[in-house]
Amino acid sequence: MAVREILLLGNPKLYEVSKEVKSKEINNLSPIIKDLHDTLMDFRKKYNAGRAIAAPQIGVMKRIIYMYLDKPFVFINPLIVKKSDELMNVWDDCMSFPYLLVKIKRHKTCSIKYLDENFNEHILKLKDDLSELLQHEYDHLNGVLAVSRAIDGKSFAIKSARGD
Ligand SMILES: [Zn+2]
Repeated sequence: MAVREILLLGNPKLYEVSKEVKSKEINNLSPIIKDLHDTLMDFRKKYNAGRAIAAPQIGVMKRIIYMYLDKPFVFINPLIVKKSDELMNVWDDCMSFPYLLVKIKRHKTCSIKYLDENFNEHILKLKDDLSELLQHEYDHLNGVLAVSRAIDGKSFAIKSARGD
């Protein structure tokens, strides 16, 4: 268990597609999940932000998302099975570019099918900010960053330059 280095924008690994977790790997997952937790909590302390992290952000190229809200959530091999036609504009941020905001479009709701750390399957429907968050982390597993989804050339802002 350790705080790991978060890969930053420009690191080519962030553009790679992560691999599915196989059931035989189930016993190797807890150190990865612990590292994701420790790294997320360390980031929160430093930046007062950060609700979720994807394994490739610490260089582990596996399809794992760790989210900590009022309690931890582990999403293994997540799949977005449904998404609303309705889109919303959001200013997105990312632990891999902590000072930058990018205006993008996300689906207002989505449903995700995933395995928990014991490989039990679940389906969860998310809306608004959690829908956006999940889509953001899911993109990481496919090597897609928010900067690649910018609406236009004016969709970038340094956080401290915006009053809101
Ligand atoms: Zn991110």
